[in-house]
Amino acid sequence: MKYSIEEIQKKIFDTVDVIYVSDITEDKYTALRTDSFFSSLLGEEGSYQDMMNTFMERSIDKKVAASNEYSVFFKEAGNFAGRFSKKCRFSMNGTDRTVHITNIPFEETMSAILINYVEEEAYISESRADEKVNTIKSAYLFSMCCDLVKDTCSNMDMSEVDDNPVNELNISFTQWRGTIVNMIWPDDQQAFNEFTDPEFLKANLDYHRSRSIDCQMINLEGQYIWVKLIFNRIETGDDSDFRVVFVVEDIHESHQRLVKDLKKYETMAMKDSLTGLLNHGHIESALTESLEKCRGENKPVSLILLDIDHFKRVNDTYGHATGDAVLKKFSALSRDHLKQYGVQLGRWGGEEFLGIFENTDGDMTEKIAEELRSKTEQSEFETVGKITCSIGVIQVNEDEAPESAFVRLDSALYMAKENGRNRVVRG
Ligand code: GH3
Ligand code: MG
Ligand code: MG
Repeated sequence: MKYSIEEIQKKIFDTVDVIYVSDITEDKYTALRTDSFFSSLLGEEGSYQDMMNTFMERSIDKKVAASNEYSVFFKEAGNFAGRFSKKCRFSMNGTDRTVHITNIPFEETMSAILINYVEEEAYISESRADEKVNTIKSAYLFSMCCDLVKDTCSNMDMSEVDDNPVNELNISFTQWRGTIVNMIWPDDQQAFNEFTDPEFLKANLDYHRSRSIDCQMINLEGQYIWVKLIFNRIETGDDSDFRVVFVVEDIHESHQRLVKDLKKYETMAMKDSLTGLLNHGHIESALTESLEKCRGENKPVSLILLDIDHFKRVNDTYGHATGDAVLKKFSALSRDHLKQYGVQLGRWGGEEFLGIFENTDGDMTEKIAEELRSKTEQSEFETVGKITCSIGVIQVNEDEAPESAFVRLDSALYMAKENGRNRVVRG
């Protein structure tokens, strides 16, 4: 061969676009060769830690526009300690460049950082393949191994940030708990502390058994998302050895879906299916709650009981389906009219409806009831034409039980029927 080692070295180094040397102990770096992109990114020299932070902050493909809470892990995860080679994509002043960084350590604390630009096409096809792998991986945002006896953490892997797990961490399990707790939604912090208490885990985790809690936690973009925190005990064959694997699973989307569905079922359980008003069970408990609340605040509560007149005739003449349509229309009409008074309206049963008026006295309620009676009388109902309703009204007495209030209300309605229907009677 015609080349000496010096000549080869020179030829290799001539192919490198940008070169920095760094000293971790002195916390310094200097550019040996640079270009305009890296000059604006890092300048000619500076602090090694700042360089690491810049790499993290300007790296756009791993979504590491990090919130401050995570910086403690970036020092660990972003440390270019050891021989190291990886592709990164940086963004600076609106320009995106992909580079291949190779870190070659020498003399214990020094490193040569060699940077080469990567062709855009090569980067794109590679990142597509990466994406597939990441989709599979990304269900777990974070994983690590903890030794609860020795109080250590190891093999930390933040799949969003770095593909390479950090094997040795200078952070104890206790310190880790103390840091992570600040990333948990404040209302969930107590549950987190109880769940991650080593004594709790030791008492409650058998070999290969896992335990989890769902909570909200700040993600890398600084937003709270729903996650599942899972501990699984590793089989070691030694009872005094207590090592666990910890993973954080992103359950945000499925949790949002669950909350939406639960809300739907909750609403369905509260509502009467025909009229969409509160059902019997719910308006009954609303009555008890309103009485308790208004008593505490020294405010009056009034009630109305509505009953459609001669409704049986509607069914008998036009059939059950038409009867249902009348019930629907009457419910909508009552709800729309009473909405302005903040009433709680429910279907007590059949063609009877109970309305609860908080902070409203009997006189006012009687007036509102009269409005509704008149409105019903004037409304046109499909197929049947006109209908009327009778209404009983009472103001609940101080210390009156819901049951006895209801008996008085029912008698008022009875009186309205007795006195010829289509009227309001105050009981
Ligand atoms: P009054 O003026 O005294 O209130 O006479 P009414 O005919 O309205 O009262 P009654 O209690 O005799 O009859 C109520 C009728 O309401 C009987 C029942 O078949 C009908 N009903 C109850 N629930 C429903 C329902 O969900 N749909 C239909 N279509 N009818 C119902
Ligand atoms: Mg009736
Ligand atoms: Mg009735």
